Amino acid sequence: MSADICEVCLKSDMLCPACQKLVDEGGISQLELSVSRFLHSTREENPAAKDIKIVELIESDGIVTIITRKGDAGKIIGKSGKFIRRLSEKLNKRIKVLEQGADIKSTIQGAILPLALLGINIVYTPAGEKIKVRISASQLRHSPIRLEEIKKTLKSVLKKDIEIVKE
Ligand SMILES: [Zn+2]
Repeated sequence: MSADICEVCLKSDMLCPACQKLVDEGGISQLELSVSRFLHSTREENPAAKDIKIVELIESDGIVTIITRKGDAGKIIGKSGKFIRRLSEKLNKRIKVLEQGADIKSTIQGAILPLALLGINIVYTPAGEKIKVRISASQLRHSPIRLEEIKKTLKSVLKKDIEIVKE
């Protein structure tokens, strides 16, 4: 995330003039603020939360994708998903957590959950690498997941062109 909210504002529901200015000027979004406050509120239970760095938050269609530094996803998710469930309830949104720099396959697998990844193919085009993500067409029919969302998320995480192939 681009900017940090001060300790005092993380703990309260109010914003000091400096942090208010940050929010007003778009240095931090309401969503970033909510997630930062949530992480702060879990610190006693989850001391690892203190070191979590969120690289990017992407929100669309009620799904929030949290992109963390490598190694931080588990700290946000918590044992058996307890922290992420709580955050999801608090924001009233579905949440996905992806790690920056994780290998491509596990990033994609995380992004398409609960769908299974049939496979990936990397295609080299004159415009650069393109990743073909192969998923099961029949699974997709029973899932609320939106392919456009997955594509958008994966593009911003992997910085590569993505094509989703239904098989
Ligand atoms: Zn402040």
